[in-house]
Amino acid sequence: MTYDAFTATPITRFLVEEQRRLNQEAGAGRSAGFTALIHDVRLACKRIAALIGKGALANALGDAGTTNVQGERQKKLDVLANELFVHTNEWSGNLAGMVSEAQESPYAIPEQYPRGPYLLLFDPLDGSSNIDVNVSVGSIFSVLRCPEGVTAPTAEDFLQPGSAQVCAGYAIYGPATMLVLSTGQGVNGFTLDREIGEFSLTHPALRIPESTSEFAINASNSRHWEPAIRRYVDECLAGQSGPRGRDFSMRWIASLVAETHRILMRGGVCMYPRDRREPTEPGRLRLLYEANPIGYLIEQAGGRASEGQGPILEVKPQSLHQRVSFVFGARSEVERIERYHRDHNEFELDVPLFGARGLFTHNA
Ligand code: MN
Ligand code: MN
Repeated sequence: MTYDAFTATPITRFLVEEQRRLNQEAGAGRSAGFTALIHDVRLACKRIAALIGKGALANALGDAGTTNVQGERQKKLDVLANELFVHTNEWSGNLAGMVSEAQESPYAIPEQYPRGPYLLLFDPLDGSSNIDVNVSVGSIFSVLRCPEGVTAPTAEDFLQPGSAQVCAGYAIYGPATMLVLSTGQGVNGFTLDREIGEFSLTHPALRIPESTSEFAINASNSRHWEPAIRRYVDECLAGQSGPRGRDFSMRWIASLVAETHRILMRGGVCMYPRDRREPTEPGRLRLLYEANPIGYLIEQAGGRASEGQGPILEVKPQSLHQRVSFVFGARSEVERIERYHRDHNEFELDVPLFGARGLFTHNA
């Protein structure tokens, strides 16, 4: 036992000290409002953790009988988690607006509350199809700066590349609830001490291990994969006698937060690739509140986050709920997959290419 509830750094202290330190360094200031914003996000996650932790006792499992903007069936907990996120964050005066997976248009801060300089984007409950079987779910969030002079942001104001994020993170509601976040100073993990109701720093300065023998992909879609992904997976499956010269294990939880957490803890690579079913829909995950915040954490932890051919954080968003393909994890593995995409694309000119459609901010 190395954890001591009396000496562990609570997240409030960690963030205030980080703010103090950055304010002492020239040109790296951080406002108390920004720190307060993160505190509200953490409170929203604690509220959701409390609700989810009750399971069937809260009478909140099962379908809500509604569909979200993407036409997916919502769970009751999707709806409740969204309400908790919105109402815990709307009042503070630090936000100019919010975008949620659950709402088609940006959420306008109600008239009675002041507006602030930040935008909050979130997936209030990620992996919710797992909730009824008691598998880890999470919340994902991303903080952007609201464009100068804008007090009533429109969808356009949220369409910023992932590289513009000032903070990103997730909460994972597993056997333990954790909050993992980055404000551009590396990635830190905090574990919820339920008895004192506070997150404590338990996983400082997370780094993704460079070498890995684990990959995660939904193999039931293999018949739709592009040649680059097929080659990568085939080479892993060939094991010790194949080109990689070692055996791999496969993982698939079907929960982005849970896959990300495993990769941050012990390495590996996860693929939500574009496939041939819907050439106009590049992938399954949403760029602004799933791939971008996770990509930011992965890069801050020394890994790589890619759309398949190039950095996810440089993809220029076209719409609020835009979907993307997403490959992330150990840097060398993701670079290998990007290389395979380049190698095989010259034979795949009938597949709409991202570069050709100008999805990247800089790309031919
Ligand atoms: Mn999600
Ligand atoms: Mn969700």
